[in-house]
Amino acid sequence: MQNDLVAALDIGGTKIAGALVDLHGRILVRAQRPTPAQEEGETVMRAVEAVVAELSTSSYWPRARALGIGSAGPVDASKGTVSPVNVPGWRDFPLVERVVAASGGLPVELIGDGVAITAAEHWQGAAQGYDNALCMVVSTGVGGGLVLGGRLHPGPTGNAGHIGHISVDLDGDPCPCGARGCVERIASGPNIARRAVRDGWCPGPDGDSSAAAVAAAARAGDPVARASFERAAQALAAGIAATATLVEIDIAVIGGGVAKSGEVLFTPLRRALRDYATLSFVRALTVTPALTGTDAGLIGAAAAALGAGERKRDVLLGGGGS
Ligand SMILES: [Zn+2]
Repeated sequence: MQNDLVAALDIGGTKIAGALVDLHGRILVRAQRPTPAQEEGETVMRAVEAVVAELSTSSYWPRARALGIGSAGPVDASKGTVSPVNVPGWRDFPLVERVVAASGGLPVELIGDGVAITAAEHWQGAAQGYDNALCMVVSTGVGGGLVLGGRLHPGPTGNAGHIGHISVDLDGDPCPCGARGCVERIASGPNIARRAVRDGWCPGPDGDSSAAAVAAAARAGDPVARASFERAAQALAAGIAATATLVEIDIAVIGGGVAKSGEVLFTPLRRALRDYATLSFVRALTVTPALTGTDAGLIGAAAAALGAGERKRDVLLGGGGS
């Protein structure tokens, strides 16, 4: 039997997506359920099991050699547990153990969703060919992950690169994480919208006060809407510059709903980076939109499953894998 496929799960606050993916990152089979995010933990787990069960009815299923999970965080990959902020029924929930059981004993690799998107962008997207990259998602929250020395760098618990919760404003607004002035507190979509409304921007007749509506107003020249995006860009630039200075990255890739605002975000972001990324070894840093779309979480989870398989093979063969 060929073991040339992997299974992937992308677990978020609104949906649980599953897929069988080939070695080129092509999705062959899909399954999906809504996340009953406000229900008790076992109910959420039953939705995960339903997705795995549906995948396992496919004729491709016997070819899956491992299963990767990208989950909303925090995750703890060292313990195999997850505690997603938006799924209160899961606190230190033993997701890996449960998915191993649901999948009939496949090896399971768990990473956070920011790390998953980084894996996807490195494999298939804008970070392809780069050995040192920061990939970010800027949407309802701000997440991220790192590629260092040509390899995904999830860190001991699977959360490394979580740029949304580094502080760029020491005495700034309190963040739900407990700190102050976090990148997310300034640059997430809801915070872009909140600041625009606070400073006097009024939504149009449709009443849409989302970050996308603020972006449309900014494109049309509204100065308050523009200023809100400029402030977000400044926070992102400070976080990216700090990351580049710490670990030397060549590229920062930004995806998520707010990145879809395009030049309304990227033009002030590139300008702000010149203010913060000043040392010789970070000045050449480029910032670019992500290329993997809505399947990024699944593709990244598949990449993690493949990577885990390769690392295990390295160990068995006495190779140099870590
Ligand atoms: Zn925070």
